[in-house]
Amino acid sequence: MKVYLNGKFVDESKALVSVFDHGLLYGDGVFEGIRSYGGRIFKLHEHIDRLFESAHTIMLEIPMTRARLAELVKQSLRVNRLRDAYIRLVVTRGVGDLGLDPRKCKRPTVFIIADKISLYPKKLYDEGLSLITVATQRNVPEALNPQIKSLNYLNNILGKIEAINAGYEEAIMLSASGYVTECTGENIFVVKRKQLLTPPPYVGVLRGITRGTVMELAAGHDLHVREEMLTRHDLYNADEIFLTGTAAEIVPVVRIDGRKIGSGRPGPATKRLQAAFHQMTKTGGVRY
Ligand code: PMP
Repeated sequence: MKVYLNGKFVDESKALVSVFDHGLLYGDGVFEGIRSYGGRIFKLHEHIDRLFESAHTIMLEIPMTRARLAELVKQSLRVNRLRDAYIRLVVTRGVGDLGLDPRKCKRPTVFIIADKISLYPKKLYDEGLSLITVATQRNVPEALNPQIKSLNYLNNILGKIEAINAGYEEAIMLSASGYVTECTGENIFVVKRKQLLTPPPYVGVLRGITRGTVMELAAGHDLHVREEMLTRHDLYNADEIFLTGTAAEIVPVVRIDGRKIGSGRPGPATKRLQAAFHQMTKTGGVRY
């Protein structure tokens, strides 16, 4: 596999970064996870825009234009002859000294990994997930805004560890006041009668690109979409629940904290949205 690293495509064995890179020393950097389907990159420009926004907020100047970065993503897929792929785009503060002062880092590190997509097991989509809410609270936006898709994912990793320790694959994280935020790497949606509800960004969630796509699709499926503060009670009494993310797409949730959700099986609205989403991945996207 060839990896793009600071201006060149190199063999993966040569794609190495310094131990003085602040991406490694401090998690000082930003990233995106992107997917391609059958030779088309899904929501490429949305991902590039979000990367630039994350970088702008942390005052990290990406050393190229959006158009050039988009071209490099396409090239990464072409040189690796990939049609269905997962692409990881990373920009770190670069090499500095042992202090955290970003001014010491003269040049950002940019790399792009394009790899075969490792799909989640089919069983997950057929049977749905069982989740738990965990005690680790999602970062408060006032301290570290989850809109910054940064290399520091410890908050999410701590939530994930808690779920794993309890025998679950994924966790639902709550805000400091106990409202539902998101899972450790996916957004969450509730279907209740004809409404599709999801927590608003200000509660402390990443504005997921799949989340945005599903919100757009829902309108065409007789669902009224609203951002709303949700409690655990709202989750337990939902008709259907599903998660969204670039890698996972749309995953049904059938049990939370031991409570059965709806019928306990993936529901009809979830299935309709999954079908519409798959259709969109086949026809939308940027060719390369
Ligand atoms: N929330 C978090 C914390 C994430 O890291 C991600 C992306 N993996 C998502 C939600 C889903 O976002 P997207 O649909 O843009 O992949």
